Amino acid sequence: MDLIFSDLHANLHALRVMLRFARRRGITRFVSLGDLVGYGPHPNQVLERIFQLRPRVLVRGNHDRVCGSGQEMDGFNGPARQSAEWTHNRLRDDLRRALMDMPMGPVVIEDGYVAAHGSPGDEDTYLLGQREVGEAFECFDGPLCFFGHTHLPGCWELDEASHSLQWIQMEPEEWLTLRPGCRYLANPGSVGQPRDRDNRASFMTCDARHKRIRLHRLEYDWDAEAKAILAAGLHPSLATRLAAGM
Ligand code: ZN
Repeated sequence: MDLIFSDLHANLHALRVMLRFARRRGITRFVSLGDLVGYGPHPNQVLERIFQLRPRVLVRGNHDRVCGSGQEMDGFNGPARQSAEWTHNRLRDDLRRALMDMPMGPVVIEDGYVAAHGSPGDEDTYLLGQREVGEAFECFDGPLCFFGHTHLPGCWELDEASHSLQWIQMEPEEWLTLRPGCRYLANPGSVGQPRDRDNRASFMTCDARHKRIRLHRLEYDWDAEAKAILAAGLHPSLATRLAAGM
């Protein structure tokens, strides 16, 4: 069993809850889809914990790239830019190097399962509409690509015979079994900054042997994390959005 997660965004309280879940279920294999840092107040603590886990796949996200390099900040809005500068100035050298060493997606996990941050064709592209999603299916082989970046959990299913594309809203704890003749782009949502008006940490598990995936949502202490954002002097909107889940 693999635990697939994305967009942790330096949220230590959300990470702790996810790791407790993994320990209880005996899960030791992790796949990270990027954006470990940016927005949140605990970049060094989060990176330390994540690298200790030795995830089998770590792809970089756009915030990892910008916070690590200190470049390209012009593309970010005010709060994102301020948090990227704040993060860049506080990252420990060894952790910054490890952050910069993470490969760009897509990266193969196993058996044609792949991991990307945005689109498998471009890490900065948000997969939100049918057109971009249709193009993204051209950019990887195999039955399943996990992606993040939008912070919205769920799954796109492409029926190869009819070419029909549909968005599947996944219910927490319900298995979704991959159908033969279909290919999938699955988003585990965001652990550290959910944006679907549900403030619980979001991630997935994947049972490759039985070709099935499952969404999980867990309550965490977002209030403590929001207070740490304010205490760090980061933009207050980054604190309020944790409470609202958007
Ligand atoms: Zn993100």
